[in-house]
Amino acid sequence: MLNVPSQSFPAPSSQQRVASGGRSKVPLKQGRSLMDWIRLTKSGKDLTGLKGRLIEVTEEELKKHNKKDDCWICIRGFVYNVSPYMEYHPGGEDELMRAAGSDGTDLFDQVHRWVNYESMLKECLVGRMAIKPAVPKGKQSHYDWFQTDSLVTIVIYTKQKDINLDSIIVDHQDNSFRAETVIKDYSYIMHVGLSHEVEEDFSVRVVENVGKIEIVLKKKETTSWKRLGHPLENHNSLIPRKDTGLYYRKCQLISKEGVTHDTKLFCLMLPPSAHLQVPIGQHVYLKLTITGTEIVKPYTPVSDFLLSEFKEPVLLNNKYIYFLIKIYPDGLFTPELDHLQIGDSVSLSNPEGNFKTSQFQELEDLFLLAAGTGFTPMVKILNYALTNKPSLRNLMFFNKTEDDIIWRSQLEKLAFKDKRFDVEFVLSAPTSEWNGKRGHISPALLSEFLKRSLDKSKVLICICGPTPFTEQGIRLLHELNFSKDEIHSFTA
Ligand code: FAD
Ligand code: NAD
Repeated sequence: MLNVPSQSFPAPSSQQRVASGGRSKVPLKQGRSLMDWIRLTKSGKDLTGLKGRLIEVTEEELKKHNKKDDCWICIRGFVYNVSPYMEYHPGGEDELMRAAGSDGTDLFDQVHRWVNYESMLKECLVGRMAIKPAVPKGKQSHYDWFQTDSLVTIVIYTKQKDINLDSIIVDHQDNSFRAETVIKDYSYIMHVGLSHEVEEDFSVRVVENVGKIEIVLKKKETTSWKRLGHPLENHNSLIPRKDTGLYYRKCQLISKEGVTHDTKLFCLMLPPSAHLQVPIGQHVYLKLTITGTEIVKPYTPVSDFLLSEFKEPVLLNNKYIYFLIKIYPDGLFTPELDHLQIGDSVSLSNPEGNFKTSQFQELEDLFLLAAGTGFTPMVKILNYALTNKPSLRNLMFFNKTEDDIIWRSQLEKLAFKDKRFDVEFVLSAPTSEWNGKRGHISPALLSEFLKRSLDKSKVLICICGPTPFTEQGIRLLHELNFSKDEIHSFTA
């Protein structure tokens, strides 16, 4: 299947080596890294065999191109000739051949739907499928609008009780207005080209108990609008979230501060024309154009609750998104991110992820197992648990050396101040002076750490880190008789 990575060629220990579902990547031949692929696509070589022409492809035509040296695959209605890409595919040629001559969208989505195939494969584009797949129309939700002299109010009725400000993502770019309401595994999208100009900023309000969302736009001129606008892509439809595609807006880099020798705290600011909040346990994708190709990587925003001395303008609170990001000097994405100047922009996607705060319901013991930057999802989880739940919560934080521990003193201070929280650092490559715990995740460490407060207390164990760490951890937890429902693992 089309499992195009958006990075060069990850280290064996990198989470990028194993796709979700445990699908391993295959070793690639010398000269077949992502950078080599980018170079080939820039060489001007005719990769489709169509000399730059785009054609309309019928089902029958697509089916004919099902061999390694003549392999076409359709993704979301676009057809690519992936034969030149075969040897560069980290999932291997056989995986790619599973979709040969057919629609590979589902197979692609199962692995990494966020991979930026449009940019990666743009030189392989053959054309569009002759018939576009139909978009299901929304049945449950609908919208309405009304106006005063100076305002236009758009009301979205979701008929859901658990809608909040995290559920609605609004973007107003040029004259296009897009509001995506997340309703369980679906998105209700309203997307219109506005008929008149409005100010950049707007307000969003949610009436939670009736599931009503109100978005108030400010007219630039006090004329009466005859219509809201014309429909754009997916307007007024309810779409499975996995099919919406990632929607990006440009954010500004506001600050960058060193946290450890290789990890930095980045602060991005959303434009005034966007409303977006990243829910607890979810990640977003950051996108940069590197040597002419769009590269996308996932990152988990953190909150600043551990940084008491941290200062920020109070009013604009919701506009800032913080990330703890480790810079890999020989990585593809992070050195570029690190080279950005304050004020430069980075594209940021809608949030994704399957963590739900309902997992905290009636929870008595929360255990967090983090390794390296796998600490990032734990920050908001910890903040939520400390604010909402009186029960026991412990963090076991695995790192290589003392210098690698992110926010060590803040965590120690918190443990000292708040008796409900405890932290244990475990180092895999400590100096001889280290008095604390040593080694990798192990049955002995886990059974000592995972002590229930009551015999049959309701437990949640969150685990995140390098893929081998997470996989090994899950296996060990099962061996210690923790059930699937008691474990939440963070993966791509
Ligand atoms: P890559 O190019 O992927 O390289 C990573 C490492 O592999 C480097 O050391 C590099 O030298 C090595 N490598 C590359 N190619 C090879 C090769 N051919 N052989 C051997 N080694 C090689 N990271 C964070 O820092 N913070 C977060 O909040 C965060 N959240 C994440 C959330 C999710 C859901 C996921 C899946 C990952 C998250 N990550 C996070 C990791 C992040 O997405 C990137 O994987 C990471 O930043 C590395 O990207 P890179 O392109 O700089 O490095
Ligand atoms: P690292 O290389 O500094 O390792 C940190 C610790 O992880 C080590 O001290 C060790 O205890 C453990 N570890 C590493 N390799 C291991 C192995 N093969 N087996 C058992 N334990 C092992 O970690 P890092 O460079 O900070 O990497 C963090 C990882 O977490 C990245 O792969 C990143 O993609 C992932 N991550 C995932 C998410 C997510 O899925 N939501 C979020 C953030 C980070």
